[in-house]
Amino acid sequence: MDTRTGLPVVGMVGGGQLARMTQQAAIALGQSLHVLAISPDDSAALVTPNVTLGSHEDVAALASFAAGVDVLTFDHEHVPGEYLRVLVEHGVVVRPGPDALLHAQDKLVMRHKLASLGLPVPPFVAVSEVDDVVKFGDEHGWPCVLKAARGGYDGRGVWLLNGVESARELVPRLLEWGTPLLVEERVAMRRELAAVVARSPFGQGGCWPVVETVQSNGICVEVLAPAPDLDAERAEEAQELALRIAAELGVVGVLAVELFDTEAGFVVNELAMRPHNSGHWTIEGAATSQFEQHLRAVLDYPLGATDPRAPAVVMANVLGAPRPPAMSPDERLHHLLARYRDAHVHYYGKQERPGRKIGHVTVLGSRMAEVRERARRAAHWLAHGEWLDGYDIHTGGQT
Ligand code: ADP
Repeated sequence: MDTRTGLPVVGMVGGGQLARMTQQAAIALGQSLHVLAISPDDSAALVTPNVTLGSHEDVAALASFAAGVDVLTFDHEHVPGEYLRVLVEHGVVVRPGPDALLHAQDKLVMRHKLASLGLPVPPFVAVSEVDDVVKFGDEHGWPCVLKAARGGYDGRGVWLLNGVESARELVPRLLEWGTPLLVEERVAMRRELAAVVARSPFGQGGCWPVVETVQSNGICVEVLAPAPDLDAERAEEAQELALRIAAELGVVGVLAVELFDTEAGFVVNELAMRPHNSGHWTIEGAATSQFEQHLRAVLDYPLGATDPRAPAVVMANVLGAPRPPAMSPDERLHHLLARYRDAHVHYYGKQERPGRKIGHVTVLGSRMAEVRERARRAAHWLAHGEWLDGYDIHTGGQT
């Protein structure tokens, strides 16, 4: 409890952009997020005075950080479960708890659990030797998808195997490094969707409109809210699926369920138990943002309304360009704000590196195609310092 305000204190493990944006929401609720960050330069460490420097892999650092907060929650899922169990045994309130979080940490555990609940997942098997993969591929067809069960993100830890040869080349190497693996069917999908929901310990649930997530090289580049051409019945089915997973696994906080949209119905790909990239659009685009909702949920406050604020909302990620742009970030921002007066820019205070998520842009409007184009062009400009449509900033016209 913060004795000055009489309000509880939330501690977030990890100092990335999710913690940074949670801090923005925390301020409105009278809070200042406490953050366990690796470095003073971490995205969230730059915006809160309540930073503890330490590693999420150091149980002593976790315990001393947790001692100063009322609720412990997460910006990422990489905290070892056995450490969280120690904290829980010592009376720390951990939300989501370690038993739920395990399903966001380990894809194999998650696949087994969802399959046992009769929920749709791709056919899969655990891999302990290369022949497991060869047998699976021969049975289910090549190419198939090899995944690290733990530790992957943004498509790192996902490999497409074209046939026996590529399996024999890659799998033994990964097994030698001790990477726990699974192999699964390559799902023939129309597109990828995400159903983002929140659940409180009281049992209240809330869901935002289902979104389409557009991927490039395993990284999400755009989020379209609501998912275009998804009829109301199917949207509700996806929301119910996500709420059911939240309840069955005992999730507290935001749960993002990444889905494949296939001819035969939805297939669950991934779970995240924290604010998620597919929910960033809610900051300006919904009555309650995912960041505020996550705080409300972990504090067991009533959840907020989730209605969208516009018929079409698009979030585009700003991914570091392959080569440093000629213009400084300051100049790029200056020009962007002049040209796209309705664009909501979020910079995460991170250094630019090729492919790194350094920010995002959200645009609201009434026509999806137009809103998407504006968001895409705005994000591309911020990342590359080049207008996609050839607009020349020097002449104020088309080149
Ligand atoms: P990460 O945890 O690194 O984000 P994911 O499991 O979400 O990895 O996979 C990243 C991307 O790879 C997905 O968004 C999807 O585009 C593709 N992918 C993953 N699994 C499959 C699959 N079984 N079939 C087809 N594509 C897949």
